[in-house]
Amino acid sequence: AHLDRIAAVDERVHAFLHVDADGALDAARTVDARRAAGEELGPLAGVPVAVKDVLTTRGVPTTAGSRILEGWRPPYDSTIVERLRAAGTVMLGKTNMDEFAMGSSTEYSAYGPTFNPWDLSRIPGGSGGGSAAALAAYEAPLAIGTDTGGSIRQPGAVTGTVGAKPTYGGTSRYGLVAFSSSLDTPGPCARTVLDAALLHAVMGGHDPRDSTSIPQPVPDVVAAARAGATGDLTGMRLGLVREFATEAGGEPGVTAAFRDAVDALTKLGAEVVEVSCPHFEYALPAYYLIAPSECSSNLARFDGVRFGLRAGDDGVRSLEEVMSLTRDVGFGAEVKRRIMVGTYALSSGYYDAYYGQAQKVRTLISRDFTAAFEQVDVLISPTTPFVAFPLGSRTADPYQMYLADLFTIPTNLYGGPAISVPCGLSEGLPVGLQVMAPTMADDRMYRVAAALE
Ligand code: GLN
Repeated sequence: AHLDRIAAVDERVHAFLHVDADGALDAARTVDARRAAGEELGPLAGVPVAVKDVLTTRGVPTTAGSRILEGWRPPYDSTIVERLRAAGTVMLGKTNMDEFAMGSSTEYSAYGPTFNPWDLSRIPGGSGGGSAAALAAYEAPLAIGTDTGGSIRQPGAVTGTVGAKPTYGGTSRYGLVAFSSSLDTPGPCARTVLDAALLHAVMGGHDPRDSTSIPQPVPDVVAAARAGATGDLTGMRLGLVREFATEAGGEPGVTAAFRDAVDALTKLGAEVVEVSCPHFEYALPAYYLIAPSECSSNLARFDGVRFGLRAGDDGVRSLEEVMSLTRDVGFGAEVKRRIMVGTYALSSGYYDAYYGQAQKVRTLISRDFTAAFEQVDVLISPTTPFVAFPLGSRTADPYQMYLADLFTIPTNLYGGPAISVPCGLSEGLPVGLQVMAPTMADDRMYRVAAALE
């Protein structure tokens, strides 16, 4: 049914870069056979899932939205995909994304944008716009995203779906095409909080192949989502970040929908208090030094030799010329901008002034979170300052695009979990509410989010 739905609507939505119909039907038949043989299967056995094209899939094209990886079929599965297969889920295909997960609208995909199913003239968010649009268009019931600065939560917010960024290190990065290794976090995308929790439980947990993976079991997110669904938040303290309220750029309709949701949470028994996180205003500038610095280092591996594209290989050019030509035609403008910013920030003599300084700011932001969580159980905010914007309206000025992640980026710098859950409409378009929790308290975040649903 999902393959039929994709065939019917994806020409207009363009959520998928690759549909693996044969692989999906094979996987579904295998699950049927196992069930017929009386095998006990997990809760997601037979459930279709769409995977962001930044996670490796054995033998199935993986481009990370870039020309430079065109035609690359990885020889191995990422840990996340391996776990999805082991759980009996059925992978439908790979979803569209901003090139190397750099962007907030999916307009920076080298393969053309994804369109928001709510209004095809608007963006579906990014970088994981393909995964979110696939859910909103009912092309898939579950999807995988990755969140470095908001790429799961912001697409969730603008497509009226649920997106969760787990605690950093709670989900494996093995087989994830790296953007910013100290921030990249795979996570679940779904249409309900419980579905997201079920997917989280299957994909998460310690992986010895990822050196930053946390050697602890995933908190019981499924039980927490079920507990939250009873709608009782008595005794729960929710914090509103004072500094977010004064940030420029928030649309009045978004603020109004968020306020209504806060009232609803209060009626469920939660206590809402204001807290101050004085360093959050520096999160965006710190992120745009740290993420490009790490990306400039990570993307050095795309040299025209090891993966995908090779340009200018006519037998008379030098290795350096081939590398340079390959990178010139293989990378898009936003990726080049970040490589240049990152290379500059890491260069000798500037390291302390830029990268070192940004790392110190990162520590101060983490301390803001720690102090806030001494007063409240979770922090809440709108997920993004504005609803889905028209295609093309923010591509001219990179800063306008970066603002989409104003409220999501602090969490990535800290490393804790955060989820976006639909909380109403503004001018007929979805608005998301974000719940941020302390590191390894992913269960608490699901509990609050499920109550709102
Ligand atoms: N939009 C942010 C960026 O462009 C975040 C991207 C992400 O989370 N992958 O870097």
